[in-house]
Order: sequence, then structure tokens, then C-alpha cells
Amino acid sequence: MLNLTKPDIRAADRRAILDVLRSGHLVQGERVAALEQSISRYTGARHAAAVSNCTAALHLSLLAIGIEPNDRVLVSAFSWPATANVIEHCGARPVFVDIDASTYNIDEKTVRAALDRLSPTEMKRTKALIAVHAFGNVAPIDKIARTTKSHGLKIVEDAACALGSTLNGKMAGTLGTCGCFSFHPRKNITTGEGGIVVTGKKKLIEKINQLRNHGVHQSTKGVEFVEAGYNYRLTDLQAALGQSQLQRIEQMQSARTAAARYYDKLVCRTNLIPQRIPANTSSCFQSYVVLLPKKVVNKRSKIIQRMKEVGIETTIGTWHVPLLKYYRRKYGYGPGDFNNSEEVFKRAITLPLSNQMRRKDQQRVIEKLVQIIGVE
Ligand SMILES: *Cc1c(COP(=O)(O)O)cnc(C)c1O
Repeated sequence: MLNLTKPDIRAADRRAILDVLRSGHLVQGERVAALEQSISRYTGARHAAAVSNCTAALHLSLLAIGIEPNDRVLVSAFSWPATANVIEHCGARPVFVDIDASTYNIDEKTVRAALDRLSPTEMKRTKALIAVHAFGNVAPIDKIARTTKSHGLKIVEDAACALGSTLNGKMAGTLGTCGCFSFHPRKNITTGEGGIVVTGKKKLIEKINQLRNHGVHQSTKGVEFVEAGYNYRLTDLQAALGQSQLQRIEQMQSARTAAARYYDKLVCRTNLIPQRIPANTSSCFQSYVVLLPKKVVNKRSKIIQRMKEVGIETTIGTWHVPLLKYYRRKYGYGPGDFNNSEEVFKRAITLPLSNQMRRKDQQRVIEKLVQIIGVE
């Protein structure tokens, strides 16, 4: 079976984990601090706080910037459910923003449209925006920030898939107030589970450090528990794996980019439409996603099944969140509320992509997909 992806785990990674086991310091120790430093250096962010996963990173970012019950937070309608769920975790409400159907990202126009739909009371309660970098493709945070500036919105980047992606040469995750990365096995580098927040603001990182560790505050007076915090800590075992992977990120990334470029070449001779990566950005290609021709949208699950039968694993892109049962029931969303997100949700298919992928396999993926679509 040609799998969707395969984590790149080498001997050095295994050694790094064994070293931690031998040391006996398994949690919130030197390795976690070292990973935070390395991520700061790599992204150019002043501060970093490692946490148990990217969902925790997003949750703590919202709490740290002061999101409270009943607040409103703008968020992309097309994402992994966690992006909106963390708003619910704060007792706040998501205000979904439609995407551009070619980049799969929110932009200044769709953000403007979402703001225009808010009542004055809701506008007053709107404090922040979560921008997702879909599959590593960077959302136009510069233009979005210009649109939201007069409303004073804080921007949190869901950069779960975008470690190493850039906008105008600047790293994704450092373009807003806070940036959140994931180290889940489906992302470009992995720690099993894991995540990290980066920010330029010292106050925010202090708050996040406190919240991730039971609300503990250490000062010259000693240890005090100043709020009901969480346990969102990363282990040193995970951090050591992340650190080891980060040593190879440039190599891993160039292999991945080369594979994505080769897909581009194969796809442009077909009726599949690849994700548009704007010229002033670079994507780390967490996933390679294409849109199926309109005439086969209703056949997508059958196409995924037929691909599996010929030994190729594919999957949907990601979710149209307003129509997930929870959000549909709670807020009454229906079909047609966010047209682009809904359309991309229906038409997108993720193709296998890994650092070690062979061109021969990529050719087979596109050949088979085109063949199967042709029969449908
Ligand atoms: C993977 C992912 C998350 C969640 O990351 P975890 O580390 O699994 O919590 C959030 N948002 C997006 C866009 C993702 O792709």
C-alpha cells in the first residue's frame, strides 16, 4: 500500500529518545527547553512554549490574549475541527469566515464580508481572529491585519501544518500575535503528539507557561498556584524526538518541495486543480491536495475506495466546520452558508506525499486517479 504519508524516523531520532530514557528526566526538562530555543531560532520568533499538542497551543493562545466567555472569534470555515473547538473551550463563539476556493485560505475580502455581517453588539465582543495556513499554504496575514486593524483584533495563526512556510520571506507563525504548530505524525516533523506556541510578546509566553503547568507561578517568594491551569506539558521524550527531527528539517523540506513540484507537473496535464500557492509565499506542503472535476464531486468516496483497491491511500482534504453536527446543531448553519468552503470540502482529495516518495509512485498516483475519474 502506498500510504498517505510516512513519518521520517531515523537512527538519530531513536538514539535521542533512548538518551532521555537513560537520563531519567522525562518531563518538562532540558530537552523541552532546548526544543523551544531551536524553534525560536528556526522561526525567528522571540519566545516559544512547547505544549502537548497544537490544540492545546491554540487554546492557551486564546486564553493568553484574553478571550472570555461570550466573546466572538473569527475563524476559517475550512479546517480541522480543533481550530474552532478551542473557541468553544473558552466559552466564546466562532464567527466563521469563508475561504478563497483556490488557496483554501481566508483572505482580506472574506474577512471583510464576515465583519460586515456582524451586528454592532457582536462587533464589540469580537476580539480575535484565527487564520489557518491550509496544508502549509500561508494565508495573507499582512492584508488580513490591515482589514482587522481598526477593530483591534488579535491574530492567532493556526500554523499546525505550516512549520517552515513563509510570507514575503517571513516565517509562518511569526506573522500574527501568536503562532501555533503541531508535531502530530501527519505534519512535516513529528513528536508523536506535540505542539508549540511562538510569540514576540514576553507577557503572553509567561501566561502560557503558567497555564500549561497547572497555573503555577514561580518567583523569589517560592511556588504559588495563581490560577486553575491545565496540564498541557510536552514530555522530554517528545522534545528530544522533535529536536532530532528539526536538525534535518532543511533536507526533509527540500525533498518534500521537490515531490510537490513534480506533482504540479503531472497534474497540469489533467483535469485536476492543484492548490494555488501565491507568488510571495512558500509552502512546506504538509499535504498535496487537488480538487476533483465538478462532475464527479458526488463520487469522491467511491474514488477514494477505488484508489485504495489499487493500493493507493488517499483521503478528503479537511472539514467544512460549520456543517459538522455540533456546529450545525448549536448555531443552525445549513448548506450554502459558506459556499467556497463547502465546495472545496466536497471536491478536495489529498494525495500521498512523503519526503522519501519516488517519482515512479507519484506517476502511478496521478495515472490511476485520472483513470478512475474517467470511468466514474
Ligand atoms: C493537525 C491540526 C490541528 C491539531 O493539531 P494537534 O497537534 O493534533 O492538536 C489543528 N489545526 C490544523 C489546521 C491541523 O491541521
